[in-house]
Amino acid sequence: MKFRTTLLFGSPGAGKGTQGKILGTIPNFLHCACGDVFRSLKTDSAIGQIFLEYSSRGELVPDETTIELWNDFIHSSTKTHRFHPDNDTLVLDGIPRNAHQAEMLNETLDVKSIFYLRCMKTDNLIERLQRRALKENRLDDANIDVIKARLDTYHRETKPVLDFYGKKLVHRINADQAPVKVLFDILKHLVKV
Ligand code: ADP
Repeated sequence: MKFRTTLLFGSPGAGKGTQGKILGTIPNFLHCACGDVFRSLKTDSAIGQIFLEYSSRGELVPDETTIELWNDFIHSSTKTHRFHPDNDTLVLDGIPRNAHQAEMLNETLDVKSIFYLRCMKTDNLIERLQRRALKENRLDDANIDVIKARLDTYHRETKPVLDFYGKKLVHRINADQAPVKVLFDILKHLVKV
């Protein structure tokens, strides 16, 4: 059985987490931010160490590790009745993050729509990331070189995910707007799917 899925797509700092958290409060939607799953790991565990090693360089964690962790998260969410695969829609944020991950998840996900949050002003993005670094104690956003590496990884590895799913599923959303307007634009489409 495939999971009914909506993807939140966009560069680091585009606001996927902000929107995902709100959408996840709506009954029958489960928000899953892959970065949050990684950050919830104990830093002294083997996989926690792998996460720190890659994220501190602005790189992606290897695909096998990522997908295994994600599968564990979904299974435990199902077991604990936080996720009801028959009725719920997954709102994924930060996964799949490259074309290979999209392929690995192809038998698992039934992707119904993709919200592509587009932030045209790179200065805005960098400022949002640096503000978040202070507020949320995120080491990967504290350093400008790591931020630049993350943006580079996004353009090189993550952007091709859009081609994998094809244009028909993609809704382009102006993410330079206030969060409430971004939410409104997402909901306009979401009520139709
Ligand atoms: P942002 O919300 O700024 O895009 P995330 O919190 O999603 O950042 O991710 C932080 C870090 O976690 C990434 O830079 C990467 O190292 C790791 N990570 C998160 N999701 C994935 C994934 N699907 N595949 C590989 N690495 C990931």
